[in-house]
This record gives sequence, structure tokens and C-alpha cells, in this order.
Amino acid sequence: MARQMSKGTCNLCGGTFSKSAMTKHLKSCKQKEVISKTPSSGRSPRKTKTFHLVVEGRYLPDYWMHLELSANAKLEALDRFLREIWLECCGHMSAFTIQDRMYSVAPMAEFNDKSMNVKLGQVLSPGMRFYHDYDFGTTTYLALKVVSQQESQIKGGSIQVLARNELPPIPCMSCGEMATQVCTECRWSGKGGWLCDECAADHECDEDMLLPVLNSPRVGMCGYTGY
Ligand SMILES: [Zn+2]
Ligand SMILES: [Zn+2]
Ligand SMILES: [Zn+2]
Ligand SMILES: [Zn+2]
Repeated sequence: MARQMSKGTCNLCGGTFSKSAMTKHLKSCKQKEVISKTPSSGRSPRKTKTFHLVVEGRYLPDYWMHLELSANAKLEALDRFLREIWLECCGHMSAFTIQDRMYSVAPMAEFNDKSMNVKLGQVLSPGMRFYHDYDFGTTTYLALKVVSQQESQIKGGSIQVLARNELPPIPCMSCGEMATQVCTECRWSGKGGWLCDECAADHECDEDMLLPVLNSPRVGMCGYTGY
């Protein structure tokens, strides 16, 4: 099967762009937005230092987002955001790895972990790559990159999604239509497990094994049914 180029939507203009074109597009799209938002009269609005980040599934790169957030935001806020939009199933552990240091949601002194009570601006700089792991059993691995640092208007703790991938099409293993569910039992036994509604109804495994297909790198893992 020919691999399709991952596409996504720019939330600033609503346009659709390929994954590889999105960084460049956002650069020009953001500039246009700044110009259109600048008031013609008087004072310029207060700006804060922000980071433009790209986050993707480390081994599932068709799931990706471009984010903008304040350099004063803490790692724990980014962790919370990633859980809400992509990860949370049953309150598992999570940690960032930044330049060989672990920043854990529940730091353990004997492993020399740090907590997530750290501002992004203290640990990140442009061009840096870092990682986030959610659930140390059936782990979802994310890779992040600092695209740039700039001065922008952004509300204090808010995290803005600049762009996000479209749902990657996954074919049903029985009939080839778009899968809407995934059988976790088949998935772990290496039989695929992706099913459309019709084939899911006839599927031989227990109904409890079915999870919905969602636009997340955690699709089909543990008990992930969205937030
Ligand atoms: Zn745009
Ligand atoms: Zn879970
Ligand atoms: Zn089917
Ligand atoms: Zn099954």
C-alpha cells in the first residue's frame, strides 16, 4: 500500500498542508496574523516570550501538533495538556526527558529525578529536541522539538494549538474500509485488529476488547477512549 503523506490543518487560517510544509506555512501565516491584529492606533499590546513546539508520536509520526506557549509555562502544564488532548486513560505515570535529565510527574529521589515544577524557559532553547513518555507499561512515546522562540501575545497559561494532523486513514483488516475500532486482543497478538463498525459487529473476540479509533498516538493502547 502506498504510504500517504500526513496532512494537517492550520488553526490560524483553516488551510490544509502536508506535515513537511506546515512549519514553513505557520511562519508566514503567523506573520500575517500579527499584522492584522496590530492596532493602528497607539500602544502595542504586551508581549511575552513564547516557544513554538512541534510534538509527534516518536514511533507514530503521523500524529503531530504545532503548539505555542509561554516560556513561563511549566512542564507540568505541558504534561497536563498532552494528557488531555492525546494520552489520558487511567492516570499513569509520565516524564519528560530533556538533555538526559528526567522530569517526572512523581519524582523519585533515588533515581535523581526532577519534578515538573520547572518553567519551560529554564530548560528549553531553540532547536532542542526532548521527549515525553506516558505510562511506563504500555508506553506512548512522544518526541518534541523547539522550532523557535519569539515574542507574542498569548494569555498567561494558555497553550495554543497552531496546527494538528488530520486523522490518519487506517483500513479495516477484514474489508479495507476505514477502521473505526481496534481490537486490543488482536492488536497485541500481531493480527492487526483494525475494524470498521460492520466487521467489528461480527468480530470473534470479546466486545470488551474493542476501543475506538481516535486521532491520538495512544489509539488502541491500554483503555484509551479519549478524554
Ligand atoms: Zn495558516
Ligand atoms: Zn491506562
Ligand atoms: Zn470492515
Ligand atoms: Zn480481536
